Amino acid sequence: MTAPPTAFTTDSASPLVQLGLRHLGEALPVLLDEARQQQVSYETFLFRALSVEAQARHGRLLQRRSQAAHLPPRKSLDAFDFSFQPSLSERQVRELAGLSFVQTTTNIVLLGPPGVGKSHLAVALAWAALEAGYSAYFTTLTALAEDLEEAGRKNTLRQRLRFYARPQVLVIDEIGYTRLGARQAPLLFDLINTRYENGSLILTSNKSFTEWGPLLGDEVLASALLDRLLHHAEILTINGPSYRMKERLPLLQDQRKEETSHEKEVKQQHQPR
Ligand code: ADP
Ligand code: MG
Repeated sequence: MTAPPTAFTTDSASPLVQLGLRHLGEALPVLLDEARQQQVSYETFLFRALSVEAQARHGRLLQRRSQAAHLPPRKSLDAFDFSFQPSLSERQVRELAGLSFVQTTTNIVLLGPPGVGKSHLAVALAWAALEAGYSAYFTTLTALAEDLEEAGRKNTLRQRLRFYARPQVLVIDEIGYTRLGARQAPLLFDLINTRYENGSLILTSNKSFTEWGPLLGDEVLASALLDRLLHHAEILTINGPSYRMKERLPLLQDQRKEETSHEKEVKQQHQPR
């Protein structure tokens, strides 16, 4: 490999260091080599060099923002097998991924049994929003309810409600796995009320809306909450098989095959000769 010119070393006198172009500094020896071999034009070289720095910065910024947003590892719509869930409209999901729901502060509610991809879609939409420059935050209902209850005890509820009101997209995952306590349910209502027409919510639940009353332990509160939540909302109901079972199905079938061939062997061994 050809050594980079001294002006491009990583010591403090290098213009790259002075301009803070750290990623370009690291990639430069390879870029220069490629440029010499492919005999690229000055324009192409400059474009490639600046793109390396720009992409690396964008990636790092996105990583920092996704950590602050508490987002689980990235999920994408491209990795989602729509043919596995015919009850779900691919067109509707792709339209949501266009993100106009963020601007219109429309809520998204994903309903369905476990394993049908509710969290996958919620995370994919939140990542898409983050990548497009919107702010987002991800939490589960259990974590949120405990956090708000603790804030109530510590007299910091107003700050916490403000914290959850701020992101343009707030994901509340797994509504329905635990019942809310008597103190928690009104706090959830406060939060939904604070965000009403101010920011989008993406909720996932394995319970139909009629079951939210018992879930919150208060029918009147649940109905007031649903009233605000569903005023501007898109509801996606996924009625289908669990994808987790699909992944396990070949394993189960292999296991079954092994068992039957073992059964055959045993039978043969016990057959009278
Ligand atoms: P839910 O939240 O509805 O219980 P998840 O979104 O957690 O289900 O899905 C379970 C797992 O299966 C995840 O790893 C998810 O990425 C994957 N998955 C679910 N549905 C699909 C699908 N249609 N195509 C590809 N992967 C899927
Ligand atoms: Mg889930």
